[in-house]
Amino acid sequence: MCGVLGILGDTFLTNARELLLLLAHRGQDASGLLWSENDRYNKAKAMGSPSGIRVPSEKAAIILGSTRYPTSGRRVVSTAELDTFVGPFDRGGLALTHNGNITNIKKLTDTHYDCDTEFITDLLHDLLTENGGDLARAFKEFDQRVDGAYSLVGIYDGRMFAYRDPRGFKPLVFGRSKGRVIVASESTVLDMAGVPLERDVYPGELLIFGPDSSMESHSISQNSTHSHCFFEYVYFAHPAARIENQLVYDVRFRLGRALAAEFKRLALEPPDYVVPVPDTSRPAAQALAEELGVPMREIILKNRYLGRTFIARSQAERDAMAKSKYIYLDDKIRGKNILVVDDSIVRGTTAKMIVADLRRRGAAKVYFTVTCPPQDHPCYYGIDISTSSELIASEANVEEIAQFIGADALIYQTMDGLINAIGLRDLCLACIDGDYPTAYARHIQEAVQAQGAVSDCRDYERVIE
Ligand code: AMP
Repeated sequence: MCGVLGILGDTFLTNARELLLLLAHRGQDASGLLWSENDRYNKAKAMGSPSGIRVPSEKAAIILGSTRYPTSGRRVVSTAELDTFVGPFDRGGLALTHNGNITNIKKLTDTHYDCDTEFITDLLHDLLTENGGDLARAFKEFDQRVDGAYSLVGIYDGRMFAYRDPRGFKPLVFGRSKGRVIVASESTVLDMAGVPLERDVYPGELLIFGPDSSMESHSISQNSTHSHCFFEYVYFAHPAARIENQLVYDVRFRLGRALAAEFKRLALEPPDYVVPVPDTSRPAAQALAEELGVPMREIILKNRYLGRTFIARSQAERDAMAKSKYIYLDDKIRGKNILVVDDSIVRGTTAKMIVADLRRRGAAKVYFTVTCPPQDHPCYYGIDISTSSELIASEANVEEIAQFIGADALIYQTMDGLINAIGLRDLCLACIDGDYPTAYARHIQEAVQAQGAVSDCRDYERVIE
């Protein structure tokens, strides 16, 4: 997951930075803006949030923006690394930013890339040169060579373009109004800019925007089925975002309803409170509380100024960060049966810590519910769970995970509950069912199964023939 933004039409760079902030939750590692000025590109990048990007108080006619969440290369540790680790990138007149993950870079090139967006920029630049600058022909060849997920926004020949891979893994929407075009990972950016959402970019569709918001649509690759990432709805996207005509908030609410049905089936002692793990699971917790007829109480509060525990690289660092991540309303816990709702269990660090914290504060019972089913396969398309060795569900069954986290009951979403809540059939569920929609990802999975998983390297970053 990363956030991408493209703006065509005179816009203050400070305004573009504000809009990019709406995609900060999609990538907190580093961020960047690129704008065109007299046939050259200027860039400004920062570690962490877009609020750290320093830009002049000027307008630009075309602007690209990126927020980075590393699924290739490591985290950025110094400002000197920004140019190679975070987009947007440019090469000979082409500028580009991307959300997704390319699975077969190691097979396509011997060059080392710190960021797959730079690889995409180089390859597309070469293909444009070979195809006389024709974007549509270049993308046709691009799709034949590249395996993975890619939602792109770019600039070429003075025009802005958007492209979404043939499976449509990652979201990409656009809108046009009063001479301005905005392309973004999430529709909330358009809402903030006062530009009405026109629609999602279709999978395999290339859009080229010219002066006065004119638009050409080219159908580059067509797939009979698409593979929208279900985790966008469960975790990544902002609840106010609309993806494939589904409001993320509504999906999360329905996920809560489905979990309530599961909870009722188990006929456990009723909870006193439903408690969300902030922030993603709040709508699900509201629905659960409504369905079970018990109050929702926000007794776990987030320490907002701490970075994400998930992106820590060692378990010791993760444990230490997890300890200071939440603050509890102690008075509401003693003697209560508490039903906790979170969106996912990856390594189990967060769930184990929360259950222990609630018990230490005197909770009578702690039930733990999860809005998505167990993720027991790695993701190769842009979630940083890229080896099975970091997934507790790949080694333990539900009962064993319940024991590990110390909960009185552990209730996961069912696959049907998930699919019905999202309301789409064309989903990528590979991290749950191991069914990878693209050929090279299947090849990696087979090779890893034969060679054995390792914990210190992403599966697709190991050299696999
Ligand atoms: P863990 O503590 O390893 O079990 O990770 C689960 C916690 O991390 C949950 O509270 C999730 O909200 C959060 N989480 C799950 N997936 C991701 C992700 N890809 N990036 C950042 N945080 C995540």
